[in-house]
Amino acid sequence: MRIDCKHVWEHISSYIDGEVDAELRAEIDKHLETCEICSAVLDSTRNVVVLVADERVFELPAGFSDRLHERLEKELPLAGPP
Ligand SMILES: [Zn+2]
Repeated sequence: MRIDCKHVWEHISSYIDGEVDAELRAEIDKHLETCEICSAVLDSTRNVVVLVADERVFELPAGFSDRLHERLEKELPLAGPP
């Protein structure tokens, strides 16, 4: 199985929560080693999750994910359908 950036973003919160299966986790780990963008996304998503958890609010701000994706689309001009 090969995954691209969009797959990583789709699963990133499950990945942080440890809810992805071992195979997918391995693929994401491998991708993160070679992709600076996804590493940055992971870091910032993790920070948001930690901040939110500290406030004992367990929902991400509305639109968070959409905004993130929108920004990533802009910053990833080469990403697109195969
Ligand atoms: Zn990536």
